[in-house]
Amino acid sequence: MVLNFAEWMKVVKNFGVGYTSPGISKFYLKHKNDGSCAFLHNYQGRGFCHLQHMKPRACKLWPFKILPRPKYGRANEAVYNFAGKPFFIYVDPACRGLTWGRPTKSFLDTTLTEFLSLALGFREKQVYSTSRPFYYPQYLRSERDQVY
Ligand code: SF4
Repeated sequence: MVLNFAEWMKVVKNFGVGYTSPGISKFYLKHKNDGSCAFLHNYQGRGFCHLQHMKPRACKLWPFKILPRPKYGRANEAVYNFAGKPFFIYVDPACRGLTWGRPTKSFLDTTLTEFLSLALGFREKQVYSTSRPFYYPQYLRSERDQVY
């Protein structure tokens, strides 16, 4: 996963530079030998992100790509108007959690809107666009009840 400079600084400050790797013009989160993210831990058979409290934006948006132009074709299906502008939304088919089909109205109105807000920097906190923290379900229930 790619990190911007501020995210890289946070990871380095909290965990050390060894958890990141530099690219030509970007920084990345380090992988484990099996190819999974260095911050992905198994807890009671479920994946748990150790960076949940400071998750990089690229992680928050995955598996979506939100673009100002229709880079991957099928513009009529990819277009979604938000904040008065058209955006073109694509999904990485490598995501194993995808369910293919037409999105529901509730997904469009809450989850997708939240992804767009995250992508545009209107918000940082995830409520609908991340999985429930199974270790503390009451917290998320109250968060989901909030109107924003
Ligand atoms: S969401 Fe967490 S575990 Fe997954 S790639 Fe990002 S930092 Fe790693």
